Amino acid sequence: MTEVMEIAAAIAEEVLFPRAMEVDASSSIPVENFDALAEAGLYGIFAPEEVGGLGADSGTLAAAVEVLAAGCLATTFVWIQHFGLVRNLLMAPAPLRDQWLGPACRGERRGGIAFGGLLPGPPRLRAEPEPDGWRLVGSAPWVTGWGRIDTLHVAARGPDETIVHLAIDAEEGRGLSVTRQHLVAVEASATVRAQFDGVWVPAERAMAVVPFDPAASGGTSLRANGSLALGVVRRCCQLMGPSSLDVELVACRAELDSAGDPTMALARARASELALRASAALLVQQGSRSIARHEHAQRLAREAMFLLVFGSRAEIKSGLLSRLLPDGQAVDR
Ligand SMILES: Cc1cc2nc3c(=O)[nH]c(=O)nc-3n(C[C@H](O)[C@H](O)[C@H](O)COP(=O)(O)OP(=O)(O)OC[C@H]3O[C@@H](n4cnc5c(N)ncnc54)[C@H](O)[C@@H]3O)c2cc1C
Repeated sequence: MTEVMEIAAAIAEEVLFPRAMEVDASSSIPVENFDALAEAGLYGIFAPEEVGGLGADSGTLAAAVEVLAAGCLATTFVWIQHFGLVRNLLMAPAPLRDQWLGPACRGERRGGIAFGGLLPGPPRLRAEPEPDGWRLVGSAPWVTGWGRIDTLHVAARGPDETIVHLAIDAEEGRGLSVTRQHLVAVEASATVRAQFDGVWVPAERAMAVVPFDPAASGGTSLRANGSLALGVVRRCCQLMGPSSLDVELVACRAELDSAGDPTMALARARASELALRASAALLVQQGSRSIARHEHAQRLAREAMFLLVFGSRAEIKSGLLSRLLPDGQAVDR
């Protein structure tokens, strides 16, 4: 998979990193960043070659996410939301799969996710069955990439403890409304809160109906987001020059790569904490100039802050708090 990594590295260094500060100061990401990923085939990075993907294995996928995140975290963050759509289309009934999988792999169709139904506790987003389809009711607190995606992969609670995976148009109207979330990092990701007031979804847009298994949102499924943190550390290392952080990056990546279901959350916590420390070390090394708005160091520090909370789970959160408060305790709020 050297070829995939060469492509990813070239886009990261030649397209994404030169624009990273401009993106950071903007409210949306230039569509050209996504077009570059699409032209390189990266929207179908892990899909099998016979359906139009690059066929990358999980190790190559993780490595590509890291390299691209070191180029521009916001762009990579939006791009990886597309993975949910591709994964579900691969398993979807034939008419939808045949119609959409090719365009999704080519990045002609670009997906985001609204996983409100996966959140623990009482259902916040429900899919109510109707004779010829589903009706979506509730909300998804975070949906990233608005304006840069055309398809929303919705995971909503269905009847009898199920999760219904639906593919809907990422367009306001007909019961779907969005409100912008304003962020101190990755603001250009155009993240919104989505409200579903009886959104009608025809049956042929259903990708799968599966049992609701809270454990499915944990364990090794958390690996890919860990590469976002590794990407921030990687860029900090490059900007600092040789330091002990290089060794820590290698060790942290190895721990993520070898983690299984029981240990992945702790490996993720370690990666987030390392991004925080690496960006703090870069700030200190570069001194006062690092706090100027055009400097990468302050951007990376804000991005590390975002990665402390994004994609978290109870075990990641407690793992991080243990690392940050080694002798203390915190009450979950
Ligand atoms: C800027 C930003 C953009 C985001 N974009 C998206 C997006 O596009 N689509 C999307 O669906 N989500 C998105 N999220 C949500 C994200 O995936 C996590 O759900 C969220 O970061 C966890 O934060 P929390 O405050 O809910 O967690 P905490 O307060 O740390 O924990 C709340 C509880 O909810 C649990 N939990 C949270 N999320 C999940 C989940 N998905 N599955 C199972 N358990 C969960 C945690 O384990 C914990 O028990 C985004 C979050 C941020 C901050």
